Amino acid sequence: MTAPPHEAHPTGVGRALPNTQQGMRRRNLAKVMHTVNAEGPLSRAAVASRIGLTRAAVSTLVDELIRSGLLEELGPERPGRVGRPGSALAVSGRGPAGIGAEVGVDHLAVCAVDLRGEVRSRAVRHGGNRGRDPEPVIEELGELVRRVVAEAESEGLWPAGLAVAVPGLVARDARTVVRAPNLDWRDRDLGDLLSVDFPLTVGNEANFGALAELWLGDGTPRDFLHVSAEIGIGAAVVVDGGLLRGTHGFAGELGHVPVQPDGPDCPCGGRGCLEQYAGEEAVLRAAGLEPGEDRVGLLAGRAAEGDADVRRALRDAGTALGIALTGAVNLLDPESVVLGGALAGLAPWLLPSLEAELDRRTAGPACPVSVSGLGPEGPLLGAAHSVVRGVLDDPVAVAERG
Ligand SMILES: [Zn+2]
Repeated sequence: MTAPPHEAHPTGVGRALPNTQQGMRRRNLAKVMHTVNAEGPLSRAAVASRIGLTRAAVSTLVDELIRSGLLEELGPERPGRVGRPGSALAVSGRGPAGIGAEVGVDHLAVCAVDLRGEVRSRAVRHGGNRGRDPEPVIEELGELVRRVVAEAESEGLWPAGLAVAVPGLVARDARTVVRAPNLDWRDRDLGDLLSVDFPLTVGNEANFGALAELWLGDGTPRDFLHVSAEIGIGAAVVVDGGLLRGTHGFAGELGHVPVQPDGPDCPCGGRGCLEQYAGEEAVLRAAGLEPGEDRVGLLAGRAAEGDADVRRALRDAGTALGIALTGAVNLLDPESVVLGGALAGLAPWLLPSLEAELDRRTAGPACPVSVSGLGPEGPLLGAAHSVVRGVLDDPVAVAERG
């Protein structure tokens, strides 16, 4: 079975490649790309010493990556040093790009990220998608993709793949949305609706948000729980730098963990789920506010002004989050919990009660809770970077498609 790109990356450089001489060469090319990407600009000698190959072997690999347009030479490094100056190598800002897309409840977004990790083009369309059929939504998404790809191509980039983040359960085929309750979508193959002439994967937005945190976050550990919210609450479990997916690929549905077994009905069919206490709309209801477009902005604004009802609603949401997270922390013993997405913007008012519950209820030492610095674009960036990681993991195979 060929794993979709965003599944292959977190498991490690080139691990999926066959154990042949050809597989070894591809693994070594990936090591060079990852090393220059993480630490460049670097000389050939510096790359050789970091990955434990001879300088001659590294030079052969580097030449191939330069020919493929994936690495470029920046010219002699540090003139005046004794001996022949080495040319500094950097990842190319042209060539393959990762296209990320997000289907949100209130918006659509697409971006192109180059191999250096820079966003080179983006497009956003605001407007509600809840209750709309997938066909017109995906058609609009396709228009944004074409616009972003055209702009990227005008800068010398080409799309190595497209990853689409959706707020729902995605089958292991990485195409089919099995269930997206807040869009009211069920069993739809987005690969059929979105026709592009480059590889396409579809994934859960919470998973892409967690991967963005893993790859782009500041000092993020390799074992953590990532919790994010829009209308729904999503979580992802990262274990040893890879996603824990579960048998069906549905792991991380923290929003449907019961907080009160006899609580209000939930669209999932259960009762008293976390989402009914800590989802954006639940918090707005508890605070006596009408849900509008900018729900987080409204809550954060009122809370900052000292609105007692909003602060109480957020405190209660923090308690509910703390209760649900205690179960996950006791079960999985992660190094930390990271709050992302909308929850990050509300953290000042959620954290005290959330941390109090975690401290009170966890069996081991208190699990630290941190706040993501990526903002609401985490899932979109995670999607685009999953494609970029795929290129770094098997660079020449991708370059040959370009
Ligand atoms: Zn539920």
